[in-house]
Amino acid sequence: MSQVWLIGRPVAHSLSPAMHNAAFAKLGLPHRYDTKETADDQLAATLDRMRRDDAVLGANVTIPHKEAVLRLLDDVDDEARRIGAVNTIVSRGSRLVGYNTDIYGFERALEAISVGFPFANNRILILGAGGAARACALSLLAHGNEVEIANRDPVRAEALARSMEVDGRRPRVVAWPKGSEPGDAVVNATPLGLKGEEALEDVQLPRWVIDLVPTAEETPLVKRAKATDNVTVVDGLSMLLHQAARSFELWTGVPAPIEVMRAALPRDV
Ligand code: NDP
Repeated sequence: MSQVWLIGRPVAHSLSPAMHNAAFAKLGLPHRYDTKETADDQLAATLDRMRRDDAVLGANVTIPHKEAVLRLLDDVDDEARRIGAVNTIVSRGSRLVGYNTDIYGFERALEAISVGFPFANNRILILGAGGAARACALSLLAHGNEVEIANRDPVRAEALARSMEVDGRRPRVVAWPKGSEPGDAVVNATPLGLKGEEALEDVQLPRWVIDLVPTAEETPLVKRAKATDNVTVVDGLSMLLHQAARSFELWTGVPAPIEVMRAALPRDV
């Protein structure tokens, strides 16, 4: 029996084990996906265990280790390096190789909504300046959009904007949009919503609302967007599904049974 780990903290609430274990079972693969609650000071030792243990195929990496893990890997794929974060590790002999499947998941989730992907020539506000915000900004800039970044810590937003240029375009840093009107779309790339908070309180919703937070219950932002006329919603569970499918393919080398993975989620997306 081979193993795939989910390395992060906290990971007990994760929806990933159900998806991956359903997919392994469907394809008759002798693998098991398990959570590994990992504190900051345990990260290097956890990766060393992966290197030494032939039964470990790879891992997903989640908050708070997606950026810190980069310097502990033997090799990192170009896209993960551009994003500055790794969410998937593949074990190749004693070498650990890092990937990031968030852009793939984000783009497939957008494609799945009726308006289709790519958006182009839109003004899109991203809330957050972490790894997920970075992945979304790179993708949206590459598809010809104007990207704005608002972050709780504006210094981090400035650093993200300075470090990124796609076809001559950079994100623009803006203030947190309380009381304002975002442009054509908003992407919530913060954890706001996990504990029942509304990420865009007091803000009129734009045409597209993309909430990355993957929760068993709809977030307050997704609920409000679904109840508002002429607003199209992309739910974090959809991105979770597609980024997971890509990770599955990296570990196993076979196409992911996406409908089996979708059925393992707690709601329809
Ligand atoms: P990071 O830890 O790298 O970044 C978190 C960001 O959220 C930072 O910009 C941080 O701001 C901001 N933030 C945290 N808490 C608050 C708060 N209380 N109020 C306002 N802003 C806050 O995380 P990631 O970028 O990896 O992930 C961000 C979100 O996206 C998470 O909810 C994650 O679950 C989700 N995600 C979903 C995926 C999916 O497949 N659906 C894939 C990847 C991520 P500051 O800089 O000020 O600390």
